[in-house]
Amino acid sequence: MAEVIVNNQLLLKVLDAIKTKVSDLHYNNWFKNTSWSLENEKRVLICVDSKFVRDWISENYLDVIKFELFKISGVEHEVLFKIQPNTATTHQPKFTTGNPAPSLPVKKKEENPVLRVATGLNPRYSFDNFVVGNSNQFAHAGSLAVASNPAKNYNPFFIYGGVGLGKTHLLNAIGLEILKNKPNAKILLVTGEQFTNEVVNAIRYQKTFELRQKYRVDCDALLIDDIQFIAGKERTMEEFFHTFNALYESRKQIVLTSDLLPKDIPNLEERLRSRFSWGLLADIQIPELETRMAILEKKAEEDKIPLSKEVSHLIASNIKTNIRDLEGCLVRASALASLKNSTITTELASDVLKKVVGNFGPTLTIEAIQQMVANHFQLKISDLKSARRHKNLSHPRQIAMYLCKKHIKSSYPEIGQKFGGKDHTTVIHAFQKIEGTLSLDPSLKDNVDHLEKLIVQNI
Ligand code: ADP
Ligand code: MG
Repeated sequence: MAEVIVNNQLLLKVLDAIKTKVSDLHYNNWFKNTSWSLENEKRVLICVDSKFVRDWISENYLDVIKFELFKISGVEHEVLFKIQPNTATTHQPKFTTGNPAPSLPVKKKEENPVLRVATGLNPRYSFDNFVVGNSNQFAHAGSLAVASNPAKNYNPFFIYGGVGLGKTHLLNAIGLEILKNKPNAKILLVTGEQFTNEVVNAIRYQKTFELRQKYRVDCDALLIDDIQFIAGKERTMEEFFHTFNALYESRKQIVLTSDLLPKDIPNLEERLRSRFSWGLLADIQIPELETRMAILEKKAEEDKIPLSKEVSHLIASNIKTNIRDLEGCLVRASALASLKNSTITTELASDVLKKVVGNFGPTLTIEAIQQMVANHFQLKISDLKSARRHKNLSHPRQIAMYLCKKHIKSSYPEIGQKFGGKDHTTVIHAFQKIEGTLSLDPSLKDNVDHLEKLIVQNI
């Protein structure tokens, strides 16, 4: 595989040997983009692009590497690592190869449908069909590490990011991969909302013993999706706190997803906030165009939908912030095409896009909202972007941030960036403040209503 750079034959042989011992998925994920050199007869240097990759390789493969070096050369080698985050390859989007990866679980999963249903796992969301790009590379690598070595290095593992960016998909993939390696593992995947409901019911019907048995004892890995849901719910947070401690102490893996970092989740108990940050935090960002296209193409391939590059580009460049919408558009376009007995042409895709993207289409930008708000309050855009905190400026600025978040669904950091490089926490604060005072402050509500009418008219 050309992605691994080696400077001599010995190392090439060692890598070949490793390749036979590792699944394609792991090989591509951990060894691609590494660079190996023989420093002298007894020393090998492996350059990797993060501490994370270094830790993973040295935890899991150092012995194999040394053994193979010895077997092939007859000499014991010292193996050193060097982290070079700025190697050219780091910035290449990495795509999973999409080959069928025979070592992966398809068959095994089918054998055990009951277990699958019981665990709450969805067999459709696996590592096989997760496309890796810069935006999700770290979360993906963390997920693989956790799935291969549950509760070893990263506990809890906390994935955060905006809506429709693949958090649930990765969470599921972790569960499936653990099951693949340990088919009898008891894995629980629930949403924060389900967990809350279970706590409420347990209290109501005096079943807390059963609840504790289920989550604290009969569970090898607990995967909770959208954990932010439990924030502000005292009994649920309390129950989760003890569940967390019990699992953590008995070395069971905990994986959580959320739309925000622990420190930004409102009304979350401090002790949970700190525990959520004990392990590894990994974010998923909005994917760049190439990754969006790759996801679309992968999806089309899976569903056997013929998709031209042109159409893929058209859809991916118009739907930017949510992969679920991206897929929705493809599915609609394909349905329409089969109704019309045609392929997905660019005209047909444009029609669907108009409907899917609706009012909040590509013409609605952060800049357009800034302009509307600036006009409305008779300010300049530069006032909105400035750091000045006078209420005459900060109030419209917060409204503008709120409208951007609500109508464009950009990420908090992206909005902060466009408001003169402000921190994402400033945007979160603005959003929460406006949302929280809308119903209490009629003049604010008038302003926001008026601006929202303008938004709808202007697009
Ligand atoms: P979230 O939980 O972050 O809101 P999901 O995991 O539900 O998002 O993802 C939304 C949809 O997008 C799902 O159908 C998922 O399979 C798909 N998706 C997201 N990211 C990827 C990816 N990198 N590769 C393939 N499909 C993806
Ligand atoms: Mg989700």
